[in-house]
Amino acid sequence: MSRPVFRFAPSPNGRLHLGHALSALLNARMAGALGGRLLIRIEDIDAARCTPALEAGVLEDLAWLGLDWERPVRRQSEHFPDYAAALARLSVMGLVRKAFLTRGEIARAVARLEETRGAPWPCDPDGAPLYPGDEAVLSLDEIAAREAQGAPFALRLDMAAALARCKAPLSWQELQDDEGRQAPARIAADPARWGDVVLARKDTPTSYHLSVVVDDALQGITHVVRGRDLYEATAVHRLLQALLGLPEPLYRHHRLILGEDGRKLSKSQGDTALAELRAKGATPDEVRRLVGLEL
Ligand code: GLU
Repeated sequence: MSRPVFRFAPSPNGRLHLGHALSALLNARMAGALGGRLLIRIEDIDAARCTPALEAGVLEDLAWLGLDWERPVRRQSEHFPDYAAALARLSVMGLVRKAFLTRGEIARAVARLEETRGAPWPCDPDGAPLYPGDEAVLSLDEIAAREAQGAPFALRLDMAAALARCKAPLSWQELQDDEGRQAPARIAADPARWGDVVLARKDTPTSYHLSVVVDDALQGITHVVRGRDLYEATAVHRLLQALLGLPEPLYRHHRLILGEDGRKLSKSQGDTALAELRAKGATPDEVRRLVGLEL
């Protein structure tokens, strides 16, 4: 039997904090327990925020923690053609739409729609309003004019068309413990809650959802172990896997480490940054204890 394959997939747009440490250490621990391989994937599609210096810092933090991973690491910015190929396949299926609206236009359209309906406009599980569609704001002539002017556009999945194509109900298998010993549970996936998700951003030719799904398949990932904040996004990932005929990994969404304010840690919360803790004399064992992993 081939060995399980795990990945820790940080975005190098800041230094790692305790939340990342928990995720990386859980991946390493599960891979160790199941005789699996551990890969690191650098999710750096956002060229404006991800820098080589931050990437070096991330890898330094992981090495200091005692993680051991296979080389070379996959860097998403070096694989845009892979994401373009997947996008082209979805496009041939008629599932990709250009989306010209700016953030301001979306907000104004949503406010107007709420007023006419007298009810709140639906939001996705992250709290962002669903994309109302260009036609909610622009006439067909205006859309054509933007095309003709070469106005920037994102590419979005036509969610209704995608769901119509995927006849069987979607679900994923969620592991029930951090050791991967108990049988996974089947979770029903409801991607419609996300609306027309972005497949390629205005500023970069792919999106988080598209590249994560393509890479998990290309790297043969069998176990996706990541934070609970990405639990709901799994519905979109399962939909894209089904449309593209990609294998279904097992998932484990682990607890999050919260800051003193009870909120998710962000990269700007310096006091939980591993580099900062290390500079103050903390050891990797202390970090393990801080994230609640017994030694
Ligand atoms: N790059 C994502 C992050 O840093 C993680 C993606 C994933 O594990 O699927 O939050």
